[in-house]
Amino acid sequence: MDDVDVLTIGAGGGGYPAAFRLAAAGRRVVMVDPKGLMSGNCLAEGCVPSKAVREIAHHLLRHRRFHKSGLHGEVSVDYSEVVAHKDQVQTRRYEQHDAELRAAPNVALLTGTARIDDPHTVAVDTPEGLRRFNARNIIIASGSDISVPPIPGLEHCLSSRDLYALRPSVSTLPASMLVIGGGYVGLETASFFSAFGTRVTVVEREAQLLPGMDPDMVALLAPLLDPNIEIILRAEVRRVEPTSQGVRVVFFDGTAEQHRSAAQAFQALGRHPVIPAGLREIGVTVGAHGVQADPTLQTNLRHIYACGDVNGRTPLFHAAVRQSVAAAANIMAGDRHADAVDFLSTPTTVFTLPAAAYVGLTRASAAAAGVSIEEGAYSFAEDSRAQIFGETQGEIRLFFQTGSLRLVGGWVVGIDAGNLIGQIGLAVSRGLDARDLAAFADQHPMSAEGISRSARSLF
Ligand code: ADP
Repeated sequence: MDDVDVLTIGAGGGGYPAAFRLAAAGRRVVMVDPKGLMSGNCLAEGCVPSKAVREIAHHLLRHRRFHKSGLHGEVSVDYSEVVAHKDQVQTRRYEQHDAELRAAPNVALLTGTARIDDPHTVAVDTPEGLRRFNARNIIIASGSDISVPPIPGLEHCLSSRDLYALRPSVSTLPASMLVIGGGYVGLETASFFSAFGTRVTVVEREAQLLPGMDPDMVALLAPLLDPNIEIILRAEVRRVEPTSQGVRVVFFDGTAEQHRSAAQAFQALGRHPVIPAGLREIGVTVGAHGVQADPTLQTNLRHIYACGDVNGRTPLFHAAVRQSVAAAANIMAGDRHADAVDFLSTPTTVFTLPAAAYVGLTRASAAAAGVSIEEGAYSFAEDSRAQIFGETQGEIRLFFQTGSLRLVGGWVVGIDAGNLIGQIGLAVSRGLDARDLAAFADQHPMSAEGISRSARSLF
């Protein structure tokens, strides 16, 4: 039995930032992860590799505007080069993390799967055999995994792992693809592959794409997506069947069964938290969305923390990092409340082409929360940077609490959405109001100008 101060179950965004901070403060820390690598599923098969693919698709679209009927014909991509670029980005980042780990004192990464034996004892199944640790604090950061609901034939579908993992199983461009699930993973993937020239159909059970997101924001985004993408809503997938040409997806449209066929099907039906073995047994509360954690990231056992996707609060890498850092502060404070996370001011971006991003309260969630708001808006049709790129569709929309004019949230649909939402998110989290934003000299000719302009639209 080895004694450590802190053990993290998982070395992704919820695990390693806390591990490094605590180690820097002199704690003995062990991170456990079956991958034997830092950065979790984000780098392995999620946000980073999918954005490496996205940015090439985006470049392609920008180029096409000027090459459409040019001498050199249609601009296209060599998909194997796209995959090579993606792999290179992942490899580079793994090397960077290795170097960080080697340079850090007091922290080790153990390859293995952790199981909790009692509130302070963790057993780790490693390739060299079982090791046991006595830990003063435990951080549960075991993340989430791809959900595979019991739909017959779903095993014939690709998942994000097949497209975005290092050296993925798919390295040639499919001629056609059926995307099952119109959430952000499905819609982003549909967007990238359609830009590359794949014929894409998206099948979504709900009446709106991106279920759960603000309906007005989604209504702004949907018509801006590539019109070549066929979108079928209110379609419940019943089964997936292999065919000689690929796959057939059978769905129920509310009246009858319909089907579509394609070379490949890609399923993006959500993710579920990964609960380490033994956690429930020691009495930690696990709810429908994951391990229950409060804004201090503490579970009901106060020396055990749950950060990142595993707590189901805001399952995004940057949210996990923020939570991990807060958990580290609370552990250093002796499990007292030195830091707490504001779950609401975490920005979320749907990296479709174009993208949509939001933070805090938007029109629908403010109404549901009974918060009265005033709106400030700015259309990208007026924006110099959007005009420079010929991407003038979409808007910045900010929501201010009536009376105080405190910024409570916003969305951006269109150019630079994923970047702009960071500045808006910072303003929400720091409690800035419309006058603060209006008085800032946002840079010209950059799309952030629209933030101060939308605040000024109120006055
Ligand atoms: P987050 O961003 O919330 O940290 P990730 O899914 O990116 O989530 O990372 C979680 C990591 O935890 C993954 O690398 C996963 O392999 C690892 N993991 C999952 N279950 C265990 C376990 N029982 N023991 C150790 N590591 C685990």
